[in-house]
Amino acid sequence: MTATTAPAPTVVNGIAQERRLVTAIPGPRSVELAARKAEAVAPAVGTTMPVYAEQAGGGVIVDVDGNHLVDLGSGIAVTTVGVSDARVVAAVQAQVAAFTHTCFMVTPYEGYVAVAEKLNALAPGDFAKRSALFNSGAEAVENAVKISRAYTGRSAVVVFDHAYHGRTNLTMAMTAKNMPYKHGFGPFAGEVYRAPLSYPYRDGGLSGADAAAQTISMIEAQVGAGNVACVVIEPIQGEGGFIEPAEGFLPAIQAWCRAHGVVFVADEVQTGFARTGDLFASNHEGLEPDLLVTAKGIAGGLPLSAVTGRAEIMDASHAGGLGGTYGGNPLACAAALAVIDAIESDDLVGRAKEIEALLGGRLRELAARDSRIGQVRGRGAMIAVELVKAGTTEPDAALAKAVAAAAHAQGVVVLTCGTYGNVLRFLPPLAISDALLEDAFSVLEQAFAGA
Ligand SMILES: *Cc1c(COP(=O)(O)O)cnc(C)c1O
Repeated sequence: MTATTAPAPTVVNGIAQERRLVTAIPGPRSVELAARKAEAVAPAVGTTMPVYAEQAGGGVIVDVDGNHLVDLGSGIAVTTVGVSDARVVAAVQAQVAAFTHTCFMVTPYEGYVAVAEKLNALAPGDFAKRSALFNSGAEAVENAVKISRAYTGRSAVVVFDHAYHGRTNLTMAMTAKNMPYKHGFGPFAGEVYRAPLSYPYRDGGLSGADAAAQTISMIEAQVGAGNVACVVIEPIQGEGGFIEPAEGFLPAIQAWCRAHGVVFVADEVQTGFARTGDLFASNHEGLEPDLLVTAKGIAGGLPLSAVTGRAEIMDASHAGGLGGTYGGNPLACAAALAVIDAIESDDLVGRAKEIEALLGGRLRELAARDSRIGQVRGRGAMIAVELVKAGTTEPDAALAKAVAAAAHAQGVVVLTCGTYGNVLRFLPPLAISDALLEDAFSVLEQAFAGA
């Protein structure tokens, strides 16, 4: 059964696959819960939507007031196979009944090893690999840095403009954007250097090769190749605004790393696991990262992350140097194995390409008649529009906010991103139907018309 021929189910997990509003957004139960949140939860933990979830399935989230919302966010690119996919639920239920935790570092179990085997087989590059499992994307990025430093005996970490790598101390240093991620939370970890990124919409359309030459000359002049442990890059940036570097940029950076003994780390926390219409975004230009960092889409919502890389690099850290109490938790490993099976058996890579054609196509048509849409970009089911003041390239964050708010009020979950806050991003679950996508697009179209 492939996604192209399968009829889209109209009910998933008991939930009708349609947008249906039965109260105002937010409804009374959500308003009550928001009041309790305001009392009980640290206000720095924000929420995008004003409604509280009760149940979800396929491409629909049902809130506590019975509203059916179309999900174009996947909990930030996590529920790629669909939220509460039956195979993932069954795998987790079987594991939770067997045991919940023993700690892999104390009494190991097969699920962890099986996930590592799968990752080693699936990650790009025909060379011996090993994996280590963690809980969050940030934790895996930190471990990729540890592994790179242990292997090279060097300390410098090179990251890019607009990068997002997490919220822990080291990953805050690696993340570019001050507000809200870093403001007031310093001092940050040292030996992190920021280099320019190829950003075709805003760098005058520099070729990938020219942009890479600029970046490399900055690294050589300001850091020194011999000091660099690793270069860490998102093949398509996530929070930074779904920026796709010009063709040739990433291969040139990888080649420079190879030539100078620098570990090339791909942060595929957001782009991995079929999201971009490839199993990994690195596949698009034939990259073979020395270390591949994955998380988000890996386990259908269970907390899991991984570093997968060349055996000789992974083997350089001393025994006991990597790990953590919960890393590779058995429930998360069971979920990941089910997710990887689902990606293969449902051809979700193909489905992501279909979503690109449908949603990307609609957005391009809209951009052609609305000059406030400066660019439509992204690949697969990772698509964004960068919004500007009409006829300029001046970022328009207020418009992004207004369109998102109008979509939310009509029951469509969309997210914003970008250094300038002017990017609307779409990350639907790959289990979403074409009908839901068309409906969500019509809501967006109206939101643009009204903004
Ligand atoms: C979300 C994200 C992270 C951080 O992952 P957490 O699980 O939130 O710690 C790191 N890198 C990228 C590219 C991300 O999108």
